[in-house]
Amino acid sequence: MRRENRLSGIPVVSGWGAGSAYFVGRAVQPTATVSISRQDIGDEIMRFNEIREKARKDYRQHIAELSTTSSIDTSILNIYEHILDDPAFIGQVVETISTKLYDLETSVRLVSNEFVKRFDSAGTAYFKERSGDMVEVCEKLISFLYEDDGRKKTFIEPVVLVVLRTFTPTDILTYDKSKIQAVITTSGGKTSHAAILARSYSIPVVSGITNINENIRPGDPLLVDAEKGYVYVRPNATIKARYKRLPSDVTTFEALKDKWRRPVYTKDGIQIDVLANISLAEDADEAREHGADGIGLVRTEYLLSNRKEMPSEQVQYKYYKSILDKAGKKWCVIRLFDIGGDKVPKFFNMPMEFNPFMGWRAIRIFLERRDLFETQLTAIMRAGEKHDYGLMVPMVTTLQEWQDALSVIDNVAKKLGVKRPKCGVLFEVPLAILEMETFMKEIDFASVGTNDLIQYLSAADRNNAKVNYLYNPVEPAFLRIIRNAIQCANDNGMQVSICGEMAGNPMHAVLLIGLGLRRFSVIPRAIPILKELIANISYAEAAESISHLEAIDSTTSLSQWLKNLNKRLLGDVLANLPIEVDV
Ligand code: PEP
Ligand code: MG
Repeated sequence: MRRENRLSGIPVVSGWGAGSAYFVGRAVQPTATVSISRQDIGDEIMRFNEIREKARKDYRQHIAELSTTSSIDTSILNIYEHILDDPAFIGQVVETISTKLYDLETSVRLVSNEFVKRFDSAGTAYFKERSGDMVEVCEKLISFLYEDDGRKKTFIEPVVLVVLRTFTPTDILTYDKSKIQAVITTSGGKTSHAAILARSYSIPVVSGITNINENIRPGDPLLVDAEKGYVYVRPNATIKARYKRLPSDVTTFEALKDKWRRPVYTKDGIQIDVLANISLAEDADEAREHGADGIGLVRTEYLLSNRKEMPSEQVQYKYYKSILDKAGKKWCVIRLFDIGGDKVPKFFNMPMEFNPFMGWRAIRIFLERRDLFETQLTAIMRAGEKHDYGLMVPMVTTLQEWQDALSVIDNVAKKLGVKRPKCGVLFEVPLAILEMETFMKEIDFASVGTNDLIQYLSAADRNNAKVNYLYNPVEPAFLRIIRNAIQCANDNGMQVSICGEMAGNPMHAVLLIGLGLRRFSVIPRAIPILKELIANISYAEAAESISHLEAIDSTTSLSQWLKNLNKRLLGDVLANLPIEVDV
């Protein structure tokens, strides 16, 4: 029997979870078997041939792309193609369909598992590799099957997703979220879009795990401690007992939720709005449940995930309408599609880019592919007719770009015969935030997107765990930029919020209040916690403390200062929160 093993990585979304290892991209996990009747045999075999063909094309396309854009060895992809044509593999799948009467997907899984078992029992490194290849091919075939019928991948038992590459939002959206207990991945930072999504569904994530293949096998029991960044492979009983979730935490959190379904004021009576960041229409219920004072960011591009084509105006209308109806009379900010970077819809013909976060993204696509955005704008404006809402444009760099976007928005409003909604800029590109003053007369509201802003200012990829140490909002130069932006908006009587992950970190509440921020936009689960902290902060005291910020010139002394400040002003409150807090 193999012994317990502990691997270490970087905690990305805190919490802990346990389940069996499900390898994304490399392996399969048994799922419910589906039987067919005799007359379906022919159809299933035809489907098998079709998806093999699709998979072949997919590998060939990868080979072609890789050979023109890099010097990476593509021979592994050729091996995958051979597996697709392997008569033993094909014969067994066809036999399983026709004699055991299982559907194609079940048959592919069963045969693949059979091969994996055989390869693994041979014991040599060569056969282990072949086992991995087999699983990769099977996974590819199955992913095409799912795309065909649009079903979500479901699991019978709780799983820990083991992502052998950078973690992407699709990894969460493709699988049944209720069964994902945790995610471990080789790469992906705290503010990667996948991490944000995982956080909003309370799925713990540990990143930066190396040597996964050597230490974990598909199906191994895993216990993930994403507070400390540990992954226990085949955990023993003592570890399992230690990590049982404390029921008192759950009770305390529920009590905070009940308490904070109302507005919050600082100790000296200043009202602070705490809004929600959401992605899917059902998240709007979560927002209300957790006491959101409105919705500060709808990441609409999630509507495009896992789709084979652009959703029609009517489909989009329903999505926006449902969110706006759920927001009711409360303010709601709908962000135009932030396509590009790590969020490229499957149907979108994105040219290969070496640096996608610096490339064709959001408004840059908007101004070129107006067809896509005009449909979105039409759907939003139709849905928003009776609502108080704002349209937010992501990734604006220059004033000219903003004016161009505004004229497209104006045209759509005119065509529909409606008033142009309030329009705002998401300040997340350094040039724009440094020139915030010039935008003031031209916008209706502002929001600061610290997730991207930090990566662009520090030249540290938000998805890359390796450079995570540089990706830090508690940095003197960064805080000066934030302070100036809040001040600029406040001086101009402009409503400003922060909707990046920075705003949801409990350690930053006193800092941001002291800097003059009056509006936070965070994932729903962070709302009750933030409100509890705000109610214990005095603005005057926070502002007085922040006035010493100017004198601090190193990142280390700044984080120490922030720790001390939090301890002095909020020590007991922080200690009693039902979550672990990190700076
Ligand atoms: C941001 O960049 O801070 C932001 C809110 O946008 P996203 O995280 O979706 O890129
Ligand atoms: Mg952004």
